[in-house]
Amino acid sequence: MPTILLVEDEVTFAETLRYNLEREGYTVIQAIDGVEGLDLARRHNPDLIVLDIMLPRLDGFSVCRILRQESDVPVIMLTARQDEVDRIAGLELGADDYITKPFSLGEFLARLRAILRRSEAHPRISGREVLIAGGIKVDTSSRRAWRDGAELSLAQKEFDLLTCLIRNRGIALTRDLLLERVWGTEFAGDSRTVDVHIRWLREKIEQDPARPRYIQTVRGVGYRFDSVDEPA
Ligand code: CA
Repeated sequence: MPTILLVEDEVTFAETLRYNLEREGYTVIQAIDGVEGLDLARRHNPDLIVLDIMLPRLDGFSVCRILRQESDVPVIMLTARQDEVDRIAGLELGADDYITKPFSLGEFLARLRAILRRSEAHPRISGREVLIAGGIKVDTSSRRAWRDGAELSLAQKEFDLLTCLIRNRGIALTRDLLLERVWGTEFAGDSRTVDVHIRWLREKIEQDPARPRYIQTVRGVGYRFDSVDEPA
């Protein structure tokens, strides 16, 4: 059975989660702050990490950011705050899911199982990340991408844009956020840069760029990569 690292400083809450996870058959290791969480993640190589955001010593966002530079272990972030900023920030850092407290145990376990299933279906070699969405496959370590098995010839920014969109598939991303993630905060361009690159990217990855299957325009917001794992 998978090993789950639980990083949560609220002891009673953590104990309840631990009890229920163990009852499901999972092995649980526990940390009560971000520094310990990072340490246990490195030493025990868990199959999944449940990571609270508000933690002593090192917050969950920082832990997630550091972890992402080292491994592709699935991460579920726990947040006590409802706002979208948290949600986007959490997912942009590479978290696989987030769940807002308080939550039902049934929902939590269902989402945890779904993520574990997904990670078993697409095994990740340490340090290597392969993203698959519909007919699109991206290997971030070799910086290669394919559509329906045929390799795509992508410019650097097109590749970065595609990776960012797929990592956050199903979520509407603003042009500003894409600019920041792909071009960086130093970049002096405006949001039309994003539109231009999206157009180029669509020409390469879409069968019919005028009627995109993958990259959807979200009116007044930006773009969303559609999760097309299941047939429409
Ligand atoms: Ca906390």
